[in-house]
Amino acid sequence: MHELSIALSIVAMAEEEAGQRGVQVKAVHLKLGTLSGVVKEALLFSYDLACEGTVLEGSHLLIEEVPTVVYCPVCQAERALASVQRFCCSVCDSPTPEVLQGKELEVVALEIQ
Ligand SMILES: [Zn+2]
Repeated sequence: MHELSIALSIVAMAEEEAGQRGVQVKAVHLKLGTLSGVVKEALLFSYDLACEGTVLEGSHLLIEEVPTVVYCPVCQAERALASVQRFCCSVCDSPTPEVLQGKELEVVALEIQ
């Protein structure tokens, strides 16, 4: 399962960080783009599994979803994507291959006790 390996690496990273600083992690804040290919619910479920038996047990994963933004060469502006299946501008319907955001999968902060 794709999400489980991601959850394991997030937990390993947070564990290392907590160990170095001698703190207890209460929550992990994650930015997740809608184009990242990761299912939010599956990641939350995997996170709880990955935390079991570690110092992070009982902590929470807080996911901030990042919408996809593309650059439309016709409008010459940043636009929302018409749909994840169709890479077209939501305003003029031109193909927009340039993704500005939406692929994020990054830990932005650790909340400590
Ligand atoms: Zn456009």
